[in-house]
Amino acid sequence: MTYDVVVIGGGPSGLMAAITAGRNGANTLLIEKGNKLGRKLAISGGGRCNVTNVLPDEELIAHIPGNGKFLYSTFSIFNNSSIIEYFESLGVKLKEEDKGRMFPRERQRENSREHTGKTVRRARG
Ligand SMILES: Cc1cc2nc3c(=O)[nH]c(=O)nc-3n(C[C@H](O)[C@H](O)[C@H](O)COP(=O)(O)OP(=O)(O)OC[C@H]3O[C@@H](n4cnc5c(N)ncnc54)[C@H](O)[C@@H]3O)c2cc1C
Repeated sequence: MTYDVVVIGGGPSGLMAAITAGRNGANTLLIEKGNKLGRKLAISGGGRCNVTNVLPDEELIAHIPGNGKFLYSTFSIFNNSSIIEYFESLGVKLKEEDKGRMFPRERQRENSREHTGKTVRRARG
């Protein structure tokens, strides 16, 4: 079998890349060396999947050690609002908690990694 896109690594970056490629019609293969997808995603935020923060870009950048200004151009293309929309497009609704931190809603926390994995399989060409 041949693939249009091969993504190596099933962490958050690889999962998003594979889903995006699949959604855009590419026959995509995701290769993960471990036995679980999104292992670190599952332990972020104390095991509750802290996927983003709703504070304004300026404030997020102010918290980056050193000179975080390089992030302005990245955030102009894809920022925290984009992440929230992205998860909602996967059917994962988020809720805001202290200091602007965003988590999957209660029922979906444990399932968000598995949900993302299923979406990868669905999104395949
Ligand atoms: C304890 C902990 C808490 C965290 N808390 C937060 C938080 O609250 N909020 C937050 O935003 N971030 C948090 N992070 C950081 C976040 O988890 C990482 O920024 C994120 O996982 C990085 O995603 P990634 O896809 O780039 O890399 P990774 O998550 O490291 O994924 C890389 C994947 O590639 C696989 N891989 C590597 N080499 C190969 C190979 N040769 N072949 C096949 N597969 C391979 C690995 O097995 C892995 O699954 C936390 C991290 C840790 C460890």
